[in-house]
Amino acid sequence: MAIKRDSYSADEHSILYAETGGCCPLCTMPILFQKKDSRKPSKGYEVAHIYPLNPTQSQATALVGYPVPSDINALENVIALCPTCHTKYDKDFKLDELIRLRKIKDGYLSEARAKQTASQHTIQEEVYEILDAIAAFDFDETALSPTNFNVSTVDKKLKTGMSPLQKHEIKIYAISFYVRIRDHIRTLEQQDQASVRILQNQINSYYLAMNKQNPENKDLVFNYVAQWMSAKTNKPILAAKVLTSFFVQNCEVFDVGTE
Ligand SMILES: [Zn+2]
Repeated sequence: MAIKRDSYSADEHSILYAETGGCCPLCTMPILFQKKDSRKPSKGYEVAHIYPLNPTQSQATALVGYPVPSDINALENVIALCPTCHTKYDKDFKLDELIRLRKIKDGYLSEARAKQTASQHTIQEEVYEILDAIAAFDFDETALSPTNFNVSTVDKKLKTGMSPLQKHEIKIYAISFYVRIRDHIRTLEQQDQASVRILQNQINSYYLAMNKQNPENKDLVFNYVAQWMSAKTNKPILAAKVLTSFFVQNCEVFDVGTE
């Protein structure tokens, strides 16, 4: 029997629109647009089922072996697409395209979860000062001193689930900034050791929450920690990435080698 298509509420539309960032995830065209002679924007998207609502014969053939979602009309199985991409997706259905769309949607869902979790995690004021210091470091390339510590710690800690490119970024930041951040944090510790401890615990606890939500993807975990730090403090994301890299190198934070 054919499954009835749900009609989605205004709030659900808000979610579906917002998660795309306002652009069709397949062709990047804006999905709200301004008609000539109109002061209000018009909706330029349709709600598309990722796993087809009522698969046609050819869709069913392509879907053999692919798990059927428990609720096909659930928000987790729908995504806003521009009408052109929606029609093409349904008419010219391919399993590869479903897998691609599923991956995009899973990215939206994990980002929404990270943001929601971020709102519940506070961060010590000390981090503002550290991020300001990082942003203000006078960068002298001749001062790079990779021999001061063992970069292989990063490899050990991030054995699984992180891409080589992401590991490389963390190592570069660690090499360039490790000593200066360590010294800066030591100075802060002399003033108020408890606060620095609390800060480390806060970062650790947000990391653990992200790791729980994205157990297979350490790239995401790293970036969510940096985004959280940047969003909480309104400081540049680059400074937050540098500091997150420091914690990867220095602390029990990101210590996932024992999994
Ligand atoms: Zn499109």
